[in-house]
Amino acid sequence: MPGITERLLYRIAKRWIAGYSLDDAIKVAHDANNRKLRVILNRLGEHTPDEKLIQGYTEEYLRLLDRIRAEKINGTISVKPSQLGLAANPSLYKANLLRIVERAEEYDQFVWIDMENSPYTGETLETYREILPGHRQLGVCLQANMKRTESDLKDLIPRGGIVRLVKGAYPERGELAYKKRSEVNANYVRLMTMLFERGGRFAIGTHDGKLIDIARELAKVRQPNFEFQLLKGIRDDIKPTLIEEGYRVSEYIPYGPEWYNYSKRRMRERKRNILLLLRSITG
Ligand SMILES: Cc1cc2nc3c(=O)[nH]c(=O)nc-3n(C[C@H](O)[C@H](O)[C@H](O)COP(=O)(O)OP(=O)(O)OC[C@H]3O[C@@H](n4cnc5c(N)ncnc54)[C@H](O)[C@@H]3O)c2cc1C
Repeated sequence: MPGITERLLYRIAKRWIAGYSLDDAIKVAHDANNRKLRVILNRLGEHTPDEKLIQGYTEEYLRLLDRIRAEKINGTISVKPSQLGLAANPSLYKANLLRIVERAEEYDQFVWIDMENSPYTGETLETYREILPGHRQLGVCLQANMKRTESDLKDLIPRGGIVRLVKGAYPERGELAYKKRSEVNANYVRLMTMLFERGGRFAIGTHDGKLIDIARELAKVRQPNFEFQLLKGIRDDIKPTLIEEGYRVSEYIPYGPEWYNYSKRRMRERKRNILLLLRSITG
């Protein structure tokens, strides 16, 4: 039985996650599809060198792909490298990722790879570059707060890489990352412009109204193959508007008992979320 603090935190976290189990995720995915949102399902959990856990996460993604197929869900999955073995060794990660990608290919489904904090960036992209030529239904996330991202993007576009652009959720050192909000936003615009001008298929992953407006403008110039991606429980006001305007919109829906770290990141992003938490504690 979880303690009272955990139960209160979970009540807040529930807006950002589907619940504890794969069944919860499938149910929430159907709800999102009913609102014309595509879904990207993610089993929470990260940074584990424990091989048993790693195998468990890998098997769960395979089951998730089976259920998405069986229940005709409009959507796909997103995996975290450090839950599939990158925190143990890169070849284990590559083997597990390949198992998942090959199962997805049987079903003609796409797979996204999340980007984690900087110790994993190099290996995540190296594995992506290695696998991409034989597996084209595979995309990777790049973070606009990272100084290296411009050169990573310039490298991936000509290879036919498929990129989800986000601001970046992890605290990083100043040598590696832009720290000021204005710098991150300016870099986001620079990178997004590159995607709209030269990218093949890509995704704009943000809730920032100003950036979404710029994307809308950029989309008028070419007929780009892109979609907006937003997190479950954030900017629910703008999702139906984008759909009405004719854009493809995916909702990223995480689930699993490891909801605490994920919810902490969402909490940090906005002061008002901390107030929500305090209000729920004080009743
Ligand atoms: C689909 C998707 C996938 C992602 N994948 C990754 C990944 O693989 N790696 C990674 O590092 N990061 C990932 N992120 C997270 C991302 O890096 C940011 O941390 C997160 O999206 C917040 O940045 P923002 O672009 O929304 O802009 P912000 O400037 O943080 O927010 C803009 C506006 O959005 C709203 N908003 C933003 N966050 C919240 C919140 N928590 N609660 C309420 N309102 C909020 C507010 O209105 C705010 O003013 C992903 C984000 C999305 C949408």
